[in-house]
Amino acid sequence: MTVVKSDIEIARHAAKKPVVEIGAKIGIPPEHLAPYGYDKAKLSAEFIRSKRGDRNGKLILVTAVSPTPAGEGKTTTTVGLGDGLNRVGKKAIVCIREASLGPCFGTKGGAAGGGYAQVIPMEDINLHFTGDFHAITAAHNLLAAMIDNHVYWGNELNLDTRRITWRRVMDMNDRALRDIATSLGGVANGFPRESGFDITVASEVMAILCLATDLADLEQRLGEIIIGYRFNKTPVYARDLQADKAMAVLLKDAMQPNLVQTLENNPAFVHGGPFANIAHGCNSVVATTTALKLADYVVTEAGFGADLGAEKFFDIKCRKAGLKPAAAVIVATVRAMKMHGGIAREDLGRENISAVKAGCANLGRHMENVRQFGVPVVVAINHFTADTQGEIDALKAFVAAHGAEAVLCRHWAEGSAGIEELAHKVVALAESGSGQFSPLYEDELPLFDKIETIVKRIYRGAEADADSSVRDQLRQWEDAGYGNLPVCMAKTQYSFSTNPHLRGAPVNHVVHVREVRLAAGAGFVVAICGEIMTMPGLPKSPSAERIHLNEDGLIEGLF
Ligand code: ADP
Ligand code: MG
Repeated sequence: MTVVKSDIEIARHAAKKPVVEIGAKIGIPPEHLAPYGYDKAKLSAEFIRSKRGDRNGKLILVTAVSPTPAGEGKTTTTVGLGDGLNRVGKKAIVCIREASLGPCFGTKGGAAGGGYAQVIPMEDINLHFTGDFHAITAAHNLLAAMIDNHVYWGNELNLDTRRITWRRVMDMNDRALRDIATSLGGVANGFPRESGFDITVASEVMAILCLATDLADLEQRLGEIIIGYRFNKTPVYARDLQADKAMAVLLKDAMQPNLVQTLENNPAFVHGGPFANIAHGCNSVVATTTALKLADYVVTEAGFGADLGAEKFFDIKCRKAGLKPAAAVIVATVRAMKMHGGIAREDLGRENISAVKAGCANLGRHMENVRQFGVPVVVAINHFTADTQGEIDALKAFVAAHGAEAVLCRHWAEGSAGIEELAHKVVALAESGSGQFSPLYEDELPLFDKIETIVKRIYRGAEADADSSVRDQLRQWEDAGYGNLPVCMAKTQYSFSTNPHLRGAPVNHVVHVREVRLAAGAGFVVAICGEIMTMPGLPKSPSAERIHLNEDGLIEGLF
């Protein structure tokens, strides 16, 4: 039996090139790279500005079927496709999100891809990297400190401390901090109130950094953050506390995209990392728009399945940044199809062609959905060693019957050599000019109708339903001038419905909007459907128990 090397072992043996050489490949002069050691660098704002007028390459989105515990491999496929495109002679850049420490020490493991399709240095990317998340944490918490300080010194703004919505953040899974009381301990410590912590990736500052076009836009958006309400219910903004400018100062370097390389020495931008539930779940606009100026092809990933990740990528990121994706790759696995077809995780090892066929309904729905945006699709079958030929053929036949192609990809095991066919298909699709991207709904549509459009056309539910308090709130925001914003759906990623156990392609379900939140700085309205966790907890036996330094001082246990 062949021994399968762990991701970290593979990454450690990579033949890395200096980051300035990687930059040179895509025309970035060394004076515009601020290296963080040998293999990471930030791009200068000046260089980014100088590229504004240049022509754009083609944008390829990698998305997936509804996630299952079996794992689909979106990041792995994004990185593999980037290498594959370079292999077939195209200049391609990969754009993905940065990793959060929470999942790293919890269960999910790294976020730098896997097998022979990874970005490196994976240890750094998965840990502190270039400090962006720490800067975001600091900027967020500076605002929190200024709020309590304002109240302490007399509360001139007349903030109703029961209605302060701005919480604190840290980049760690720590359920003990979800709900806390602050300012305990007496007069010198202020006025006690209830608050709590979210994980840094859930911070609105993260979403803002990822949607801002430059530092001026960043500062403007930071000022628009609503931190709470006065006794007369009017909103208080970060700029009312004069926090926006200092926050922008803390974020100055974090705003610059990070350049690294794949295992095959191709360029990758790893920048930003908003949650894919209460935020939009894709890497920064600055990284994507800059990459488009430097390459023929930019391959990027959106979080979760296409119903959430791709929808938000199209309706929030592309709409706001004026991006027009040329094609989408939907990642599917035989294992995920079997789980959508009703098979339990323990039984995935056995061939089951009829379960694959049944589970394909989930894939078919995502294919239709992505096409609704005018984006042509190709399916990537991310190959796992236990997949049988019969199962693969069943998946391919399903996709062919739905007017697209499914390509078997072995990038995880073979690197770019295993994904050449997909690279050629993506080029053909993108060059065909068949893409006619447009968002799902118009800016002018009322907010609740936007939610309902997504529920009916993407989730295929019967209706969206909400209490009158939620509908009233949406109308108030429309009256206050926020009606043009897109909506950001926060819903379970495991199902088209709000029931995570309902796999496959359910229809006629009702999607209940429990709560709505205005992210005025980021520029979207969040519709919360079901329980959404903004501060995860650790499992009984977290990965942290196995992460350690070996005798040579190298990190072990990061998958
Ligand atoms: P996603 O981006 O969809 O969350 P990732 O690409 O991060 O998924 O992959 C999740 C995990 O699955 C990684 O540890 C990766 O090494 C593993 N993985 C991905 N593709 C394969 C494959 N074809 N065979 C085995 N393991 C894989
Ligand atoms: Mg991923």
